[in-house]
Amino acid sequence: MTEQVKLPWLSDCIEGQVAIVTGGAQGIGRTIALTIARMGADVAVVDVDQEKAEATAGEIRELGRSALAFKADVTNLEDAEGCVQKVVEKLGRVDILVNNAGITRDNILLRMKEEEWDAVIAVNLKGTFNFTKAVARPMIKNRSGRIVNIASVIGVMGNAGQGNYAASKAGIIGFSKSIAKELASRGVTVNAIAPGFIDTAMTKVLPEDVRNQLREQIPLKRLGASQDVADVVAFLVSPAANYVTGQVLHVDGGMVM
Ligand code: NAP
Repeated sequence: MTEQVKLPWLSDCIEGQVAIVTGGAQGIGRTIALTIARMGADVAVVDVDQEKAEATAGEIRELGRSALAFKADVTNLEDAEGCVQKVVEKLGRVDILVNNAGITRDNILLRMKEEEWDAVIAVNLKGTFNFTKAVARPMIKNRSGRIVNIASVIGVMGNAGQGNYAASKAGIIGFSKSIAKELASRGVTVNAIAPGFIDTAMTKVLPEDVRNQLREQIPLKRLGASQDVADVVAFLVSPAANYVTGQVLHVDGGMVM
């Protein structure tokens, strides 16, 4: 049920378009990739996990769309540029980019190792820069494009033990607004989504009592599902969001209001 497109009016509304979803092998990224495919687009799934990326691509093909799976590390600009080039060669164009790949390496400041800081900034923030830079030229040439960056409520609220993650996600928000201003005149929109606590592998590692405490802090009293985030991506990449750019949409059950 959670994997259905809840917005039937968006079905097939981006038919013929091509999307790239980073971190699309599992979790929120996989659900976004499948949702965009149900909306009519062909999808390139990018992930460090080749096998799972291929599995998501297989599910997309079963929906009757073309799909490619790429093993690529978003921290590497050459990987990003090579990937976008192959997407354009094989699928003909690139209309949509969803920068979703992300990691956590939690620690309080006094214990945080330099490698933990660097790894999170490299994947979450530099990865977003790399793929955005790689799609910018073809999107500017087409005079149209949609870029959706997955930030987090933590980038807005901060969180003890997540200084690196909060900095990376706050950085994504500032980056999204800046690039939205740069690319608006070329017909390219750039928006960010700030999910709250979503039930995925990333949050499954939290102990049950922590998950229960978190649930209590959420006005809607439940963790989000990947589909809750994917539905908002669906809106942002659809014609319904033609006049929306530089925004941060919270998908957090009311945590931040
Ligand atoms: P997830 O289940 O861990 O999925 C993330 C995917 O990104 C994994 O397939 C991961 O591969 C891949 N990835 C990691 N490093 C990569 C790299 N360098 N290059 C390419 N792919 C890479 O996480 P999720 O919960 O779906 O989160 C997706 C996004 O939502 C992240 O940006 C996260 O920060 C954000 N978010 C999540 C929550 C939440 O509560 N879950 C809340 C707010 C925001 P491996 O598993 O092989 O590393």
